[in-house]
Amino acid sequence: MAAPLPLPALHATHAGIWIADAAGEVREATRGEAIARAAETPHIILNAPLVGQRLGYAELSGLDLLELFAFAHPARFAVPTPAGLSRAAGLEPPGGEAQAAAVLQAIAAKLLDGLRDPDWPEREGAWTVNSSLHRLGWAWAPLVASRVERPERGERILFSRLPQWEETGDQPPPLATSVDPDDAEAKLAKLTGKGAEPREGQKAMAAAAAPVFAPRRSRDGPNMLLAEAGTGIGKTLAYLAPASIWAERSGGTVWVSTFTKALQRQLDSEGPRLFADAGERAKRMVIRKGRENYLCLLNLEDALQGGFAGRAAVLAQLVGRWAAYSKDGDMVGGDLPGWLPSLFRRAGSTALTDRRGECVYGGCPHYRRCFIERSERAGREADLVIANHALVMINAARSRETAPQQIVFDEGHHLFDAADSIFAIALSGQEAIELRRWIVGPEGRSRGRRRGLSARLMDVASYDGEGGAALEQAIEAARALPSDGWLARIAEDAPFGPVEALLAEVRGTVYARAKAQDAGYGLETELAAPDGALVDRAAAALEALEALHKPLSVLSRRLEAVLEDAPDWLDSQARARVEGAINGLKWRRETLSAWAAVLARIGGPADSDFVDWLAVERVDGREYDIAINRRWLDPTRPLAETVLKPAQGVVVTSATLRGGDGWDTADQRTGAAHLDCGVGHFEAESPFDYGVCSEVLIVTDIKQGDLAALAGGYARLIEAAEGGTLGLFTAIARLKAVHARIADRLARGGLPLLAQHVDPIDPGTLVDIFRDDPHASLLGTDALRDGVDVPGESLRLVVMERVPWPRPTVLHAARRMAGGGSAYDDRVVRARLAQAFGRLIRRQGDRGVFVILSAAMPSRLLRAFPPGVRVSRVPLDEAIERVRERLGADRIGGTLLSQRRSEAVTNPD
Ligand code: SF4
Repeated sequence: MAAPLPLPALHATHAGIWIADAAGEVREATRGEAIARAAETPHIILNAPLVGQRLGYAELSGLDLLELFAFAHPARFAVPTPAGLSRAAGLEPPGGEAQAAAVLQAIAAKLLDGLRDPDWPEREGAWTVNSSLHRLGWAWAPLVASRVERPERGERILFSRLPQWEETGDQPPPLATSVDPDDAEAKLAKLTGKGAEPREGQKAMAAAAAPVFAPRRSRDGPNMLLAEAGTGIGKTLAYLAPASIWAERSGGTVWVSTFTKALQRQLDSEGPRLFADAGERAKRMVIRKGRENYLCLLNLEDALQGGFAGRAAVLAQLVGRWAAYSKDGDMVGGDLPGWLPSLFRRAGSTALTDRRGECVYGGCPHYRRCFIERSERAGREADLVIANHALVMINAARSRETAPQQIVFDEGHHLFDAADSIFAIALSGQEAIELRRWIVGPEGRSRGRRRGLSARLMDVASYDGEGGAALEQAIEAARALPSDGWLARIAEDAPFGPVEALLAEVRGTVYARAKAQDAGYGLETELAAPDGALVDRAAAALEALEALHKPLSVLSRRLEAVLEDAPDWLDSQARARVEGAINGLKWRRETLSAWAAVLARIGGPADSDFVDWLAVERVDGREYDIAINRRWLDPTRPLAETVLKPAQGVVVTSATLRGGDGWDTADQRTGAAHLDCGVGHFEAESPFDYGVCSEVLIVTDIKQGDLAALAGGYARLIEAAEGGTLGLFTAIARLKAVHARIADRLARGGLPLLAQHVDPIDPGTLVDIFRDDPHASLLGTDALRDGVDVPGESLRLVVMERVPWPRPTVLHAARRMAGGGSAYDDRVVRARLAQAFGRLIRRQGDRGVFVILSAAMPSRLLRAFPPGVRVSRVPLDEAIERVRERLGADRIGGTLLSQRRSEAVTNPD
């Protein structure tokens, strides 16, 4: 083991504060003392923002071990806790909080020693990056410099080390072929392997899905199957079996679409069963995400060359180091540690992706090494593309790519919500200013590489006079859109231009009409009976939008003509750039048309297909956007038109597709109800005996609104289960209040409490920490439940504070009215309960209790839970006793199964 570093270390949690001096002696410290010492001498710490929050000293800085780990082992996974980092460094985890400070010193020593190891796999580039970090004042840089030798020859810069993708021709269309159910079953047997327990439901599902992978049988829509497969069926392999046969025989691609990153990771882990050879696997099974997830090398170059300053520049260097070792350049949920951007308070990380569609394609010097372009090309040739619902829908609706033909939507119960946000329209200040910047380019003192259309299309403009004139007109017309400082001008009642004037009127209407809702958060009101001023301003804004739309249309046509002319200067890179601009223009023109449609209806009759409303977006009382919003009353209509109808075959599956209702509900929520082609239905019940392994308790004696009682209930339940609890809330304010009351008490008892919206850690990392420590518990809002896939001991108790009724928004009111009033609400709640309960039992052997801390739970909603589960209404004391008995009795030898936590996550579906 490496000798500890002669540097002090500081460890602070809700349980206390400890300092290890330079000689490794550990003692408890007060908050004031810890702050004074840390301000005086840099200490080794783990996660400075988190420790700073615990100390109430946000400016805390020091030698952050996570930054050192990101430097030494970029693209390597580690749970960002003393125990997690110890394991990642090959050390014994600390036996308790008090020993953690000394362990931090040992981890630092081990990581620094590793830099001297001749076999250190991530050596290349380290010396150069550390030299840059030294200049930026990175605290670890001098310690690293004394251990990393200057290479004899200069190191290759990052951009030349990344592999180039190869251009491929267009793929031929897939051959017409079918998959026989017997073949699908045989393939499934091969995938599950010899000796695997036969799972009848899984076999039946593979056979039922096979006919989807065949030439289309109807002119009106795809071959389509809705399959509800209870948890434990093994549905992933059930659909991968026929899908992989079809891809192999037809030469086509099957898109497997998920909603959560957890399922994407799980699908990725099934890869070796399908393609044993790693090289073949990398080619035939590809993960794809939206562009905004990937590192843009041009943005990174800009950041490294002075575009970023201070801490953001340090982050850029660490991201640059990661990029050289990353599997695919995915910054969100890929191999960039989720905790890294939050160490820098998210400074700059989003500016490193291509969030605003500014890509210059062939005009970019890194085009041939671009992660996004590489992933797009890899997807074209793959058998299986693992993507998400949003990307599949965007590709079908507005992509340069061919729309997916064979699609499996797993987590299909989320299709409605995914379609709802993808097909949403928002004419907001933020959206409008983005459009202006995309066309006009940087204005005023803004820095960076962001370039407007004229800089990107300079060569086209000088070649084609008509195109050049249209470009100039578009730039002039775009100046009618909001610009920097628009919110302040509106607040001062001094808007500039017709769109800012409209938004000012929207804001006035919202404040006049909106009911007082959650203090400090968003305000909204229906777009009905607008007054004269709003109608007039909408008309003026509409005129401005049309004046912009026209030259953009002309420009698109001229660019297409240039492509056809194919002048000498139009090499393949220029062609890619012009194609990129055409695609970008198409998308922007569609946005303008959608905005115009919303404005044209203000003051006229309502369109019954849509729900329109006005909103002022706020966080903690601070306004950040003003919008006119439009949603489809039924977003599965555009889903059916743009995604389902053009496809050849579609499987939609989930453990809770019907959400405790009939197939009618599933048809409506997935878009199947809008198809005239006939849709198949399949169901297989979960093999788990829920009556034995789980129960539901409804606590009857916690009064609604009694925060002290609610917090006390949470604390006692978590204590009874000895952690392993997921607490779900319907309001952030109550989550924060409960956390503030119980976190210290629990931590002192050895039960760490993590919380979304409180801890400065991203949700994915919170779940990683929760999964890693069976004594930890996690509080989150209702939305967190979908990302939590924690089989085994780490999740044994789910506690919901209330019945998860939908929030009373304008959109909800409209859908409720159209969907049968309270019956609609019941369906929503049942689906949420089924989903939340589904977190508990993920694999054979799991045990769990589901508690609702609200007596106001109508019995009609209880069919959300699987058949056989016992539901009891009990006072809190009895609930605690039941939790203790059930979860206590299930422990092996009375100890938690911490050794189990490192077990591979097995297929839970
Ligand atoms: S091609 Fe586009 S996304 Fe890729 S690095 Fe260049 S500008 Fe960024």
